[in-house]
Amino acid sequence: MTAAHPHNGAQSSLSYVSPSPTSPWGTYLSQVDRVVPYLGPLAKWTETLKRPKRALIVDVPIEMDDGSVQHFEGFRVQHNLSRGPGKGGVRYHPDVTLEEVMALSAWMTVKCAAVNLPYGGAKGGIRVDPKQLSLKELEKLTRRYTSEIGIIIGPQRDIPAPDVNTNGQIMAWMMDTYSMNTGATATGVVTGKPIHLGGSLGRVKATGRGVFVTGREAARRLGLKLDGARVAVQGFGNVGGSAAELFAQAGSKIVAAQDHTGTIVNKNGFDLAELVPYVKANGGVGGFPGGDAIDNESFWDVDCDILIPAALEGQISAARANRIKAKLVLEGANGPTVPEADDILAGRGVLVVPDVICNAGGVTVSYFEWVQDFSSFFWTEDEINVRLDKIMVDALKKIWDTADRHKITLRTATFAVACERILIAREERGLYP
Ligand code: GLU
Repeated sequence: MTAAHPHNGAQSSLSYVSPSPTSPWGTYLSQVDRVVPYLGPLAKWTETLKRPKRALIVDVPIEMDDGSVQHFEGFRVQHNLSRGPGKGGVRYHPDVTLEEVMALSAWMTVKCAAVNLPYGGAKGGIRVDPKQLSLKELEKLTRRYTSEIGIIIGPQRDIPAPDVNTNGQIMAWMMDTYSMNTGATATGVVTGKPIHLGGSLGRVKATGRGVFVTGREAARRLGLKLDGARVAVQGFGNVGGSAAELFAQAGSKIVAAQDHTGTIVNKNGFDLAELVPYVKANGGVGGFPGGDAIDNESFWDVDCDILIPAALEGQISAARANRIKAKLVLEGANGPTVPEADDILAGRGVLVVPDVICNAGGVTVSYFEWVQDFSSFFWTEDEINVRLDKIMVDALKKIWDTADRHKITLRTATFAVACERILIAREERGLYP
């Protein structure tokens, strides 16, 4: 692309965000910069990756149970649609910002291309603490938000899914609201739905399963036996909890777990048959009697072989990267590692399986769900898990070969594989008009 012209209004950076190097969008931009040398002639399209195609900000007013009206900020960003409709979750969290949703949408673009799904990348979010809302208020919030973003979503346009603090019930309300507004039941407008509304078997645990599959492959290459391996998990929700269960089934010991309710450790490994129901009943790991509580910051010093950050962005700072004991980091979360920390981990010989491949199991089974909805023909859980395993293993192999060929990290290799696919599509489609 040509450099920005100083007088014509064209810009080389966006006027509406000012990312810091460790913010999600700043992190993403530096990940893009690192892949440019490996893109060959396609590098001329790099600028396309550094700006979202479309970003919608919506006001979401709802009447609360006490009769007052409250307004929430909602977002839906379609980062790139070169390879297909937008795809990506919707997050409900008090820290959601436009800039965060932009980064998350961009990582969806890269993730979908990394596993070769026919999707672009999108993401949505509402700046809200859903734990403060009643079920009725949550439903109103979801329906009003869906109605507001209804002008850009659709089964062939952009397909939301669950993310942090959203689930099958919220997807059911989104599907219903979109369907009521368009006059026909459109199961394919969201994924991660309940099973009897066109949901897919295996979807709930798919992200955690993908983390396990990529972890299993990486451990094999490192010569690290899963049987007896010590695993520390940050975030014990849908992703971290499901991954922990699969590692425990493979004989690993879950020696530390952290979430917003606290941090617990047990050198001998937690009994997951007790921890999983405890988390369900109590809303978090804090206070679990089968482990000892430690202070939150000490989580990063825990002696372990595998570390799974499965919470929010920016958790692995440079300072924490120097303390991590694990040989293998599996990014269940999106954007957990800042670029400087990435370099520190690489320098210390810690292998990082990056988010854009590690947690791609969720969107892969979302794709299966969408395909099943269109064909109205549903697969068995076994078929889903076998197909998921194959897609993840094949994608990781291609990424690993790319990393070996160029002597680059798995993150830059994943970006290289994905960005090549995205920019080839972009080039072949051509610049309109
Ligand atoms: N929210 C998940 C992610 O970050 C899944 C998105 C989807 O299934 O579309 O990958």
